Amino acid sequence: MSIMISPKLRLIREHNRIYRYILKWLWRIQGKDAPRAYMFHNVVDTPEQVYSQFAITKESFERFIRYELQRGQKPMDAETLKKAVDTPDVYKNHFVVTFDDIYDSVYTNAYPVLKANKVPFIIFVTPSLIDAVDPSSKHSMITPEHLKEMAGDPLCIIGAHGMEHKSFRNYSEEEARRSMKESKRWLEGKLGKRVEFFAFPFGRRVEVSRTNIKTLSRCDYSCGFSALDGSLKQKWFSTCWFLPRILVDEKFVNERCKENGV
Ligand SMILES: [Zn+2]
Repeated sequence: MSIMISPKLRLIREHNRIYRYILKWLWRIQGKDAPRAYMFHNVVDTPEQVYSQFAITKESFERFIRYELQRGQKPMDAETLKKAVDTPDVYKNHFVVTFDDIYDSVYTNAYPVLKANKVPFIIFVTPSLIDAVDPSSKHSMITPEHLKEMAGDPLCIIGAHGMEHKSFRNYSEEEARRSMKESKRWLEGKLGKRVEFFAFPFGRRVEVSRTNIKTLSRCDYSCGFSALDGSLKQKWFSTCWFLPRILVDEKFVNERCKENGV
């Protein structure tokens, strides 16, 4: 039996592929010293627990952070990040660490490393995932206590990731706007910190429409992130409402560190 794919979906997928390709190409020619956002999800205990590109061991996480600092890369806080988005050429060799969805492992495995090295980080929290269990990995999502504790640390920047972890393309414009605004308000109320950054769930053009990106620009955020590879220097192409991020997985860390003999 053949599966029918609608022409519209086919077009969106193709658009995503080309968009991705251009971002990667721009990244390559614009130099790797451009400011960038690194993206993580689950920071697991052992190599056996690495089930996909969205999981990395705590050893690799620590190795990567140390490697970045050792080679003179400068971590950014919220204010520096906003300036780097506006004037990327002034912020060469700067990076920001981001996490999506928020597994409890961010608190147990990544947070101690970030704290020890004084590295600021953004957690893009989805309220409906708090205290839940990820059905595929069976790993726990962040507990309300751990979230509160991290939020109390000046290193921790709170970002929104929608009220629920759904593809925004499937929402009506009104539903999308509501999720963007409500997640910001909800997190600010619960955690007592300003929420200025947003990351789209899934974060590819397949799940995020042009209208979604435009809607985000009217929801009182400073900027928004996608999940597509590239640097922050590519704002003129991606707009500051769908900024690229670099997915850091085991392969990325191994290649990077080996290249530089770490
Ligand atoms: Zn997500």
